[in-house]
Amino acid sequence: MTIIQGRHVEAGSPKQVFETEVVVVGTGAGGGPFAAELAEAGVDVILVEEGGYYQTSDFTTDAAKMVKMLYRSAGATMAMGKPNVNFMEGRCVGGSTVINAGISWRTPARILKRWHWEHGVDDCEEEHMKPFFEKVEERVHVAPQSEESYGGDSEVFMTGSEKLGYRWLPVRRNQKHCVGTNNCILGCPTGAKQSVLITYIPRALVAGARLLSDCRVTRINHDGKRATGITAEFIDENLKTRAKVEIRAQHVVMAAGAVQTPTLLKKSKVADPHRNFGENLNLHPNSKVVGIFDRKLEAWKGAIQGIQITEFMEEGLMFGTTFVPPSVHAITLPYWGNKAAETMEHLNQMVTGAVLVEDVDSVGRVRPGFGGEATMTYALGKHDYHQLRRGIALLAEIYFAAGATEVHLPYHNLGRIHSPDEIPKIFDPKLKAVDLEVLTVHAMCTARMGRDPKSSSVDSFGRVHGYDNLYVSDASLFPSPIGVNPMISIMSLATRNAAHWLEVNR
Ligand SMILES: Cc1cc2nc3c(=O)[nH]c(=O)nc-3n(C[C@H](O)[C@H](O)[C@H](O)COP(=O)(O)OP(=O)(O)OC[C@H]3O[C@@H](n4cnc5c(N)ncnc54)[C@H](O)[C@@H]3O)c2cc1C
Ligand code: SF4
Repeated sequence: MTIIQGRHVEAGSPKQVFETEVVVVGTGAGGGPFAAELAEAGVDVILVEEGGYYQTSDFTTDAAKMVKMLYRSAGATMAMGKPNVNFMEGRCVGGSTVINAGISWRTPARILKRWHWEHGVDDCEEEHMKPFFEKVEERVHVAPQSEESYGGDSEVFMTGSEKLGYRWLPVRRNQKHCVGTNNCILGCPTGAKQSVLITYIPRALVAGARLLSDCRVTRINHDGKRATGITAEFIDENLKTRAKVEIRAQHVVMAAGAVQTPTLLKKSKVADPHRNFGENLNLHPNSKVVGIFDRKLEAWKGAIQGIQITEFMEEGLMFGTTFVPPSVHAITLPYWGNKAAETMEHLNQMVTGAVLVEDVDSVGRVRPGFGGEATMTYALGKHDYHQLRRGIALLAEIYFAAGATEVHLPYHNLGRIHSPDEIPKIFDPKLKAVDLEVLTVHAMCTARMGRDPKSSSVDSFGRVHGYDNLYVSDASLFPSPIGVNPMISIMSLATRNAAHWLEVNR
């Protein structure tokens, strides 16, 4: 197997030049499956990944170390707006799948229909996608989370929902024998989570693909209607350049995620006559609500999510538990200092949950900013803000129904409420969107699929409009937000688009 890790390349060594049939930039949910499908069909593939190549044994509970190692900019990125939206994504072999929660949803049928009807995407409806969903779910072992590995937060969600008559579901996750150590967002230390790192990457390598890690792509090279390869650099753990890299390729596949892919397309001056790259950024904005109970829950013990509340799914609202390891928990509370320290004293009696909103009227954009770094802006729309407020209120209601004594709200200026009678305070017009704590881990739609080059960046199978051999294979592809966690949708589109690539090119 050929694996070159940039950090082991001698600093200052001469430029390294590679030739291949297909270069795939990015090794996450979109890049890993695309590369593996092609390699297994006998195509010569090089996978290029900016982050490091780590193994299960490298993953520990040391949050400071893991976050620096596995997250882009140590997790400190945001989309600017009122409010700013905190954003996190992976930067390692396996991409964000290494640090995600593993919640596994197929794209809802109503969304696939919209993609076909409203965006003219061919062969993307449920009957077309089904075999790809099935293949991916088998590859990454999607299965219901075992009840034994639920945390006490799942019990709260179930009790509250049942009292209020709200539908809920045990989550399906890409895991095998998950024992609920709750370290998913710092890398799974048992190998239970079936991330791309331990599923598709080994498949691709065994089939002959080459992997260059610690290798940052700086440019997509192109000539007329054809991409000719990429320019990159091997880097060390501190992101310092070690050696220049050039890959000459017959096909280039961009799978660097919905923030980096459009940034690279723009920086490389890939033709974009209708200025679509980086537009339509959707984020599934979400807000966290903390509940304090008078009983011991030990929510930190189980898997990050055991159940999700699906009652309001058709309205674009999804609820899940979000109990992250305590060290991360402390820094992600919607307040700091003494207040945070005091809250952490109640860790054993605490749950955290989040509402995820399918964004409808927010307007987001990604473009290269200062020094060429990706810059995101996101103006939270009125409808989406209202949806967040509704979700926060519903979560508070669920916690109180399950016996919460106190609910901590994600507003800088409305800290706590102590009974359901106080829920209407959340709708006080004096509270503004800018006062709300909003975060996301779901960026999407920035190089979207569609038939019309005026309103989309790529065709129905990911080929960039106007180019013969340049493709996108990541969350950028979605024509619209999907309202559920996106990993399986990205993997399934990658698998479908790889099958199409093979049909056309073999
Ligand atoms: C903490 C967290 C929890 C999440 N939980 C869930 C969940 O439970 N379920 C779910 O469905 N989704 C979840 N997600 C979201 C999901 O993981 C992502 O949407 C998905 O992985 C995105 O796939 P992608 O291929 O677009 O990008 P990624 O998987 O992020 O892969 C992109 C890769 O490209 C690399 N790259 C970027 N730029 C360059 C460059 N210039 N050169 C070389 N390489 C580059 C990156 O380093 C990265 O490894 C979560 C995400 C996070 C961060
Ligand atoms: S809960 Fe623990 S064992 Fe289960 S997938 Fe997450 S990190 Fe792995």
